[in-house]
Amino acid sequence: MDDDVQLLDTTLRDGEQAPGVSLSPEQKAEIASLLDEAGVSVIEAGSACTGPGERRTMDRVTDLDLDATVTSFTRGVQHDIDLALDVDVDGVHIVVPSSDRHVEDKVGTTKEGVLESTAELVEYATDHDLWVEVIGEDGSRADLDFLEEIMVAGMDAGADRFAFADTVGHTSPEHAYEAVSRLSQHGPVSTHTHDDLGLAVTNALASIAAGADLVHATVNGIGERAGNVALEEVAIALWHNYDVETVDTEQLYRLSSLVADATGIVLPPNKAVSGDNAFAHESGIHTDGMLKDERMYEPYAPEAVGRERRLVLGKHAGRAGVEAALAEHDVTVEDDDLAEIVAKVKEIGERGRRVTDTDLLAITEDVTGRDRERNVELLDLTAASGNGTPAASVRLRVGDDERTASGTGSGPVDAAMKAVREALRNVEFRLDEYHVDAITGGTDAVVTVDVTLRVGDRTASVAASDADITQASVEAIVDGLDRLLPADDPTGVPADD
Ligand SMILES: [Zn+2]
Repeated sequence: MDDDVQLLDTTLRDGEQAPGVSLSPEQKAEIASLLDEAGVSVIEAGSACTGPGERRTMDRVTDLDLDATVTSFTRGVQHDIDLALDVDVDGVHIVVPSSDRHVEDKVGTTKEGVLESTAELVEYATDHDLWVEVIGEDGSRADLDFLEEIMVAGMDAGADRFAFADTVGHTSPEHAYEAVSRLSQHGPVSTHTHDDLGLAVTNALASIAAGADLVHATVNGIGERAGNVALEEVAIALWHNYDVETVDTEQLYRLSSLVADATGIVLPPNKAVSGDNAFAHESGIHTDGMLKDERMYEPYAPEAVGRERRLVLGKHAGRAGVEAALAEHDVTVEDDDLAEIVAKVKEIGERGRRVTDTDLLAITEDVTGRDRERNVELLDLTAASGNGTPAASVRLRVGDDERTASGTGSGPVDAAMKAVREALRNVEFRLDEYHVDAITGGTDAVVTVDVTLRVGDRTASVAASDADITQASVEAIVDGLDRLLPADDPTGVPADD
């Protein structure tokens, strides 16, 4: 395998073509900056021909002065190249038709016409000092002889490289290998794969094995239909199996989270690298194994992609996992009690619920009969939204104090969070996770809010359910703080204050 493989990210162009996705200029600039920081070699910032709004956004990206080569997608017309020059990109991807379907039915030209215009456009772009990649659109369904002819025409005219495009996600690894092997005889080849058959990573790796040295990918694999090949999956597969370093893998989870937030496309929990469960272990046997040897049930450590391992309690929980979870909260129990706690944890898990830290601690107190005074308690919450600015106020008992505070925000939940922060202004806490699920489908649905709260280096997971999302959110946060703040000084006010 060529260890000089590099990544081209097209989240901002092909990724943004996913249904329902539209990124703001600020979001595009933020994503581009993080891609650059991670070491992605080429960033396709958009299509300059889309319109003035897109060009303003692309300007924002080119103004960042990134190390990466910043490019624009262009159709096979000179005007598109002019528009790309206007936004000051370093290079262009000139897309020309290559399959009969695209040559004749879509563009309405002939093969000779494609070869001629490819050469002309490449010359025009290189004359203007642009880095040029020619993409043969629908290349995986094109006649291979003709695909080679397009590449040769482009390279002879001065192009830097040619991309093998599996535009509709149709190809097999064997065909990708054959096509790229033949194309590679004429110069550097990129590969552009889609996931319609679930083969995007496989086809990218087959292309690399055949000589491709630049992989087009999108963060989280977002893109049209089933999406593009996921950047994080290619990067981790190359690193783990072939010792090929393309990017700083420790940035991968940050990138995934940023793109998921910006696009609103939530990742499935079992998604490789970035899914919620990618480094979570629930089964008793697995948890026990993980506690003995962290590599027992993982191909690579979560830290390699900027994450942490999670041991989850549920219906498969065992003694070792429960004991370890209790130890995180400095709780030890007798053997008999442990057996009873494990049984109760499994009971909740069997009802299909995730067992949170607060569930576990409440069960433990119940079983051991250790009574506990709450440190923090929600006494009252009011929230209002509508025509005015959303506002909320809370009344909390914190230790022996009673505190009232109010806040405003982008919505009632945000306003209530600000009120809680104001009431506890001496306490630094962070939301590592905030997740809402509707349990039923109607407007009267009960929602469950799952949060993971952090104070210093301690975390607590909590869930709360209510028909009112603001109420459930505040209850979950107050319950988490109740567990995390020190019992002797929950207000967080220094003793000498
Ligand atoms: Zn594509």
